[in-house]
Amino acid sequence: MCIFCKIANHEIPAYIIHEDENFMAFLDLSQATLGHTLVIPKKHQVNLFDMDDQTGSSILLFVRDLAKQITEAMGSESVNIIHNAGSLAGQSVFHFHIHIIPRYENDHFHIPPLKNELTPDELLSIQKKIKEKH
Ligand code: 5GP
Ligand code: ZN
Repeated sequence: MCIFCKIANHEIPAYIIHEDENFMAFLDLSQATLGHTLVIPKKHQVNLFDMDDQTGSSILLFVRDLAKQITEAMGSESVNIIHNAGSLAGQSVFHFHIHIIPRYENDHFHIPPLKNELTPDELLSIQKKIKEKH
C-alpha cells in the first residue's frame, strides 16, 4: 500500500487538517511555505491522468474551501495550487495529491518565469497539434 493510502487509512500519522468521506488534507512534511498542505483523494489513483470522475467533480471545491481556511488562518492573501503529474513534472509520490501553498511577502518560494518567446508560426503549430487530438 502506498504511503498516502496509509495516511488516508490512519495507519501512519500525519498532521491532518480536515477530512471527509472522500478526501483528506494534511500538512506536507516539507513546508515550502508555512501552511503548505496536501489534498488527496482517499481512493488510490496515480495522478490527473488516472483521476476518476467522482474525484474530478468534487476535489476542486474541497481545495477551494481549504485554501480559504489556510490563508485566513495563516494571514496570507495569495495561494498557489499545484499538481505534479508524472516524474518529469516533479511527482515523487504516486498517489494523486494537490499542493496548497500559501504565499507571503518575501517567502522565497519560486516558480521560474517563462522565458520561451515563440514566433506566431511556432505557436500556431503547437495549437494545431494539440487541437487535432480533440
Ligand atoms: P510531489 O513531489 O509528488 O508533488 O509531492 C510529494 C510531497 O509529499 C512532497 O512535497 C513531500 O514533502 C511530501 N511527503 C512525502 N512523504 C510524506 C509523508 O510521509 N508525509 C507527509 N505529510 N508528506 C510527505
Ligand atoms: Zn495510494
